[in-house]
Amino acid sequence: MNILVTGGAGYIGSLFVKEALKNNYRVVVLDNLSRGHVEALPENITLLNENLSNSKILKEKFLKLNISCIVHFAGYALVGESIEDPELYYDNNIVGTLSLLNTALDCNIKKFIFSSSCSVYGNPNLTPITEEETIKPINPYAETKAIVEKILMDYEKAYNIKFVSLRYFNAAGADFSGNLGESHNPETHLIPRVIKTALGELNFIEVFGTDYPTEDGTCVRDYIHIEDLATAHIKAIDYLQENDDSLVVNLGTGKGNSVKQIIEITSQIIGKDIPVKYSERRPGDPAILVADNTKARQKLKWQAKYNLNDIIESAYNWHKNQKY
Ligand code: UDP
Repeated sequence: MNILVTGGAGYIGSLFVKEALKNNYRVVVLDNLSRGHVEALPENITLLNENLSNSKILKEKFLKLNISCIVHFAGYALVGESIEDPELYYDNNIVGTLSLLNTALDCNIKKFIFSSSCSVYGNPNLTPITEEETIKPINPYAETKAIVEKILMDYEKAYNIKFVSLRYFNAAGADFSGNLGESHNPETHLIPRVIKTALGELNFIEVFGTDYPTEDGTCVRDYIHIEDLATAHIKAIDYLQENDDSLVVNLGTGKGNSVKQIIEITSQIIGKDIPVKYSERRPGDPAILVADNTKARQKLKWQAKYNLNDIIESAYNWHKNQKY
């Protein structure tokens, strides 16, 4: 099968490209390299360096390349930036995705895997979070994910596309080869920032909020290795091939760790003290986000293989010799 991977030069997309090639899929990458890294792509891969909304060119290419499934990673993914510049997020994540979907329909491509996010739940009522939880986004980034999911549901009814929407919890870690990993500018995520502090690239790690209703007062998240995320996308393609049905599923390990725990465990693994500065809460951060992953286990036959140690070790291995 020929699959199109949008955002294939990005953090999670590049890991998926590697996994898809291992599984003998023929892969074409669509990435305008605005945030992706060409170094993250394997040699000889077909790269369409285009915007999602360039429908005329994309239609020609999709037909010529005989694409039958789209795995859509491309999207901006920083909550803070989305609050400061919502236009960027609504334009790229919604308008861009809608254009891509319409081009897909024009080419009779009816299988679509979408990178959604646990942020669609906002401040959830219950934890761990099931897919039945109310959708209540609390920032423009999350809003874009929720809106695209709604569009997919309407397109399924009207145009019979089939989709799997994967609601990622906190993507983390790096490829175990040390060749692919996280490289954002600026880097706002906790684990890379903790590691960069241990490596002396940052003076301290700022902990945003110590008065949350959690055991140690800091936020709890469900960190999931990007290799596990990549595998889940392969299972999602399998699902669309075997079922005439769409699916929305959480992707998390089901285990939560606090900000303080992440710092402590990283310090133990690397064997260095990590200077900490306690600060105010960061706007828009829910106290606890942990997945109930029953549905992913049952429907996708998927489960996470890697734990927090694997995540931190692989991320450390990547950051100490970061290639791009
Ligand atoms: N966090 C922190 N210091 C940082 C970066 C993040 O205390 O320098 C906290 C943040 O408030 C959140 C958790 O770490 O509670 C995970 O944040 P991240 O940005 O990695 O992912 P998010 O949960 O926002 O997607």
